[in-house]
Amino acid sequence: MNRQGRPTTSGAEQGPTGVVETVSGHQGLALEEPLLYERGSPEMTGVDLPEVPAVTSRLGQMGREGDIGLAGLSEPDTLRHYTRLSRQNYAIDMGVYPLGSCTMKHNPRLNEKMARLPGFTDIHPLQPEETVQGALGLMDMLGHWLKTLTGMPGVALSPKAGAHGELCGLMAIRAALEAKGNARKVVLVPESAHGTNPATAALCGYQVQSIAATSEGRVDLAALKEALNEDVAAVMLTNPNTCGLFERDIINIAEAVHAAGAYFYCDGANFNAIVGKVRPGDLGVDCMHINLHKTFSTPHGGGGPGSGPVVFSEALVPYMPRPLVEWRDGGFTMEETDEDSQSFGRLTAFHGQMGMFVRAMSYMLSHGADGLMQVAEDAVLAANYVMASLSDVMTASYAGPCMHECLFDDRFLKDSNVTTLDFAKAMIDEGFHPMTMYFPLVVHGAMLIEPTETESKKNLDEFITSLRGLVAAATQGDNDRFSAAPYLAPRRRLDETAAARKPILRWSPPPASTTN
Ligand SMILES: *Cc1c(COP(=O)(O)O)cnc(C)c1O
Repeated sequence: MNRQGRPTTSGAEQGPTGVVETVSGHQGLALEEPLLYERGSPEMTGVDLPEVPAVTSRLGQMGREGDIGLAGLSEPDTLRHYTRLSRQNYAIDMGVYPLGSCTMKHNPRLNEKMARLPGFTDIHPLQPEETVQGALGLMDMLGHWLKTLTGMPGVALSPKAGAHGELCGLMAIRAALEAKGNARKVVLVPESAHGTNPATAALCGYQVQSIAATSEGRVDLAALKEALNEDVAAVMLTNPNTCGLFERDIINIAEAVHAAGAYFYCDGANFNAIVGKVRPGDLGVDCMHINLHKTFSTPHGGGGPGSGPVVFSEALVPYMPRPLVEWRDGGFTMEETDEDSQSFGRLTAFHGQMGMFVRAMSYMLSHGADGLMQVAEDAVLAANYVMASLSDVMTASYAGPCMHECLFDDRFLKDSNVTTLDFAKAMIDEGFHPMTMYFPLVVHGAMLIEPTETESKKNLDEFITSLRGLVAAATQGDNDRFSAAPYLAPRRRLDETAAARKPILRWSPPPASTTN
């Protein structure tokens, strides 16, 4: 099969994934799309304005002399541009999105409807409190649900993402330790941690010390105990961890951390696996961020909005950031810091991501407490179904059962010339967003699959069948299928490093043509 975009003989002999070179450059109804600037011209406009009457400009020397430099397009051409671009994007609304650690679940439209209610969208954080009692009431209710679900007495809603929540938690821990006279120097982070954990600790002024994992993919309790001393401020642990496994020693870990006078930070990004089933407060956690955009649904990815409220244990409640929503004298109020407060202060200018609070609350209320418990059960069941259905052909990194995501590595590819990257790119040709690749770093060539609770068994079966087909192709030596995949995507293999390191953010017009 020819995969380089051109039929070798006649079009009729094309395989199903053969790509025909077309006159227009379009591929079927998947249209190529240039930039607005390349498509538009200065003579074109989307509006017909009357001639400007002769008036004396009052701008003096401030009047513009040159071209405005904007792309001129008609209204339909503008609309088509954005619609075409949107069709080149893959989204959770298009198909399975098994991106491990990201909890790409269905986002019910009801949440969007609620978040768009004028009482939530048309308000301003500086409005008098008596005019926004409903919004404050919703924040209070969300805080109540988060405290109840986690078994923790305090909550700060203002952090704007998981990573920001980590910073919030560590700042409270730092304030608590400073109040005892010594902020300490070190934060312990397991090898399998998300990159934001060590980054947060470093940003907060701590040295990061890594803790080894056992051959079972869990934190090595003995290594952790050995690393604990009076210099350690906190341990940052993810549970379930990024290998998709429950940290069984968590209570012993919490006891050891507390015995050393340190605090226990839990990265709660994987709360989806245990929501309604386990209360982190019962496990000895001192603070934990919750990614509302993961566990409690909100469209995310691509830099979209996040929200990372943090729950706190009794020990840290005095150090939480302000303001906090309080009920006082028959109404809600935003409680700011007073002089005797031990709070570390404000984390953001205002109160957090209101729209996401509404979405999360809408999601929680429509599921109810029993429904949230079922979320965790179904998410874990789906991941275990995927794991069990693929373990005979792909190499699971650790013995199951797993929690809400399952981890494979590249050992099953060792006799092929196919890498984890090639394999993931071939999934795009199959119509699936790839799983998370090369994370966590504790296994070689990691492939982390998180199906979430919202995929039906039929969807999971299609996904599994495609993956089994790819495994067969890889192990039978069909390297062509992988080496330059994706063949069928609007763009093929991009230089992602150059795109990140040397982004071209400004379009410049091509040099003027000399032939006309
Ligand atoms: C997503 C995630 C984070 C970071 O959350 P953001 O909202 O992206 O900042 C931290 N830890 C883990 C384990 C995660 O999966």
